[in-house]
Amino acid sequence: MRAGAASGKRSVVSGPGIQYNDEKKGEDMAAHGLSKSRIIEGRQCPRRLWLKVYRPEVGEWETGTRNLLQAGLDVHEVFRGLHPGGVLIDTDDDLAAALAETGRHLAGGAGTLFEATFAHQGVLVRADFLERRSSRCRVHEVKSSTGVKDVHLDDAAIQHWVLAGCGLDLEATCVTHIDNRFVYQGNRDYHGLFADADVSGQVAALLPEVPAWVEACRVILAGSEPAIPADVDCESPWACPFAGYCFPAGPEVPFPIETLPGSTAEVERLKAAGFTSIRQVPRDLLRLGRHLRMWQAVHDGAAVVDPELPRTLRDLPFPRFFLDFETIQFAVPIWVGTRPYEQLPFQFSCHVEWAGGRLEHREFLDLGGGSPLRPFAERLLETLGTAGPIVTYGPFERRILRESGERFPDLQPALEALKGRVVDLLSLLRRWYYHPAMAGSWSIKNVLPAIAPELRYETLQEVRDGGAAQAAFLEAIHPGTAAPRRDALRRHLLAYCARDTLGLVTIVRHFA
Ligand code: SF4
Repeated sequence: MRAGAASGKRSVVSGPGIQYNDEKKGEDMAAHGLSKSRIIEGRQCPRRLWLKVYRPEVGEWETGTRNLLQAGLDVHEVFRGLHPGGVLIDTDDDLAAALAETGRHLAGGAGTLFEATFAHQGVLVRADFLERRSSRCRVHEVKSSTGVKDVHLDDAAIQHWVLAGCGLDLEATCVTHIDNRFVYQGNRDYHGLFADADVSGQVAALLPEVPAWVEACRVILAGSEPAIPADVDCESPWACPFAGYCFPAGPEVPFPIETLPGSTAEVERLKAAGFTSIRQVPRDLLRLGRHLRMWQAVHDGAAVVDPELPRTLRDLPFPRFFLDFETIQFAVPIWVGTRPYEQLPFQFSCHVEWAGGRLEHREFLDLGGGSPLRPFAERLLETLGTAGPIVTYGPFERRILRESGERFPDLQPALEALKGRVVDLLSLLRRWYYHPAMAGSWSIKNVLPAIAPELRYETLQEVRDGGAAQAAFLEAIHPGTAAPRRDALRRHLLAYCARDTLGLVTIVRHFA
């Protein structure tokens, strides 16, 4: 029996409501066929939908977005592994075949389908997980987030509307998300990784609005390129890839007023008074110490250094340890005892400066693929000894020390003792230093070029920031990565982390 035949509603396989299934994807778009994600894009911004369909080449597709999508695929694979016996509708990008396969399996009495594909009134959806219990169905959207977001409800409502339109009798609509209380116990046992939220009530409230959303998208696609909406939020629910096209960089304002940190209200007050550059603002209109320091640096064209900074840094005893960590997060944990999205250290670099100026470098990087957490903590304790300031840039290393201590109670006292030796160089610079080249940011990547241009991160190969370090680590621990490539990634990772700690040494020496 075809789905929907009993109710007399439109079928998933054929019928007048299905406009998407018998054409290629691009041709469908030209005919204003819609998918769930396109409707969501249209709800965020009409122009975004229009550009996505007609001018995708003007978008900038970030690496971060791609990584997120890859992480999402892992989550779906693991989810499917927890439901053996389910049928995956896998027809690559052939949507017509996916529609036909779905109809065939439903007609054959399949109880559980992944990526079941439906179309109703020209809107196509793929349901992550469809469970059929006698004549009724439960549909799940599987998300890699750790809770239900508003956009997931819109998503679920569109899906429900299509499935119901195809004649499915839906008992419940659920958002299945990652449960961040899950602790991985090994043996690829992921029972408990996912939590179900039944959102049927919220979806029922949204359902009457869906036809209007669909119609609005059709109107957008039938027209010419929309203007930029006055109230658009280009970052929510998803960062828009067309920002560079919509908002091309104008003539550069020197020392823009927006670079004043710490108080949006203060910046808005100055903008409302007509100022666009820090240079234009009379000194007595500024109220915050940090703003006054920036104003001074911009007007002098030189760094402003509070005498407290060199005094404090000169007083640091030897040996001095300069420390930096790299960490990774997994939506699906792969190391025993870890939780989803926990920040897990896999690498550190430590420069040690001895009295008299001798510099020594120590490091740790585990690309074996197994958990690096215990060796990381042990090697760290060995490296840092029991005395001497530990200079970090920001509070992150202190947090990882605390979490490592919680993970390994036998090491906790020693790791806690390290925390007490940490000197946060970032907080000292924020309080006492500004150089006009820093453009309102105390990130080490902005501070270092002002002090030691030869240590610019652009001179590094391949790994130049934390995101690239994570991507390199993931590639290196992948079993399919060839040894020469893994060696190259190791070199890039070590060079990047060592640059961070050499940068800390250079900054402290500059002032002390
Ligand atoms: S950048 Fe903003 S205005 Fe432009 S298409 Fe994207 S969301 Fe719309």
